[in-house]
Amino acid sequence: MISDPRLQAGTLYIVATPIGNLADLTERAKQVLTSVDVIACEDTRHTQKLLQHLGLRKPLLSVHEHNERERVEQVTSHLQSGQTMALVSDAGTPLISDPGYPLVAALRERGVSITPVPGVSAIITALSAAGLPTDRFTFEGFLPHKSGGKREKLDALTQEPRTMVFYESKHRILDTLECMAQAFGAERQACVARELTKTFETFYHGTLPDILARISADEDQQKGEFVVMITGNTNPAPSSEVDTDKLFRLLLAELPPKKAAAVISDLTGENKKELYQKALEIQGKA
Ligand code: SAM
Repeated sequence: MISDPRLQAGTLYIVATPIGNLADLTERAKQVLTSVDVIACEDTRHTQKLLQHLGLRKPLLSVHEHNERERVEQVTSHLQSGQTMALVSDAGTPLISDPGYPLVAALRERGVSITPVPGVSAIITALSAAGLPTDRFTFEGFLPHKSGGKREKLDALTQEPRTMVFYESKHRILDTLECMAQAFGAERQACVARELTKTFETFYHGTLPDILARISADEDQQKGEFVVMITGNTNPAPSSEVDTDKLFRLLLAELPPKKAAAVISDLTGENKKELYQKALEIQGKA
């Protein structure tokens, strides 16, 4: 039952929790966690520790990658009976590389009331102190674990003009930095933020090969949690979009219109008949 008049009956509160420093839990987050009837969480043992720190005992409901869809009915019926609930993840903001998206999407579709209780997220924490452009950025989350998928994803990002932000764990940080140095080259400026808000918080600034060399040289620096940020491509390669008019002029000097249209259709995927018409028009003008 609702013990705090500031909470709305039947509402799910999405509550951000600290990423290392418990003092980063907001007053409002404390109020909500204190007052809700049930807390849905990623790992009950992990959340139990946070609640102990706050001197709270609450019914917990585990919601993780493998049971999230099944939990929708349960959460809906808690909320429809007028209870209040909070959703937390192990650290930071739920749904940001953490469980919660399928649940929130399903509840939104059902018209359930959902309210965010904002707080820490590693992405914004890292960007705020990195010194890389923050006017536009793209959050890439975790890269694929397998090396083929990882390289493919990085290759697809080499022309990205915005600052890119990645999450990485201690198990893959060196391999990921090595793949990034290969994909983005030796010039691109980057920043790696390690153990944010914790005792051994460290920022590495410089080119990717330089950062890789510094972290590789110190085993202690390979431990913990990492956010990797890379500046966007400020000098992107010219667009590979085909200039069909120019191509027609070149091809029509050597080929009949039908053949030229067929070649350009193969190249661009454009309709052969329409290209043929265009070829005749260009030829007529010549
Ligand atoms: N929901 C979280 C958020 O809002 O940032 C992210 C959870 S995700 C499972 C965990 C990843 O976030 C870590 O592998 C790391 O990349 C990043 N991360 C979380 N806490 C961090 C910290 N204190 N320092 C650096 N990176 C951190």
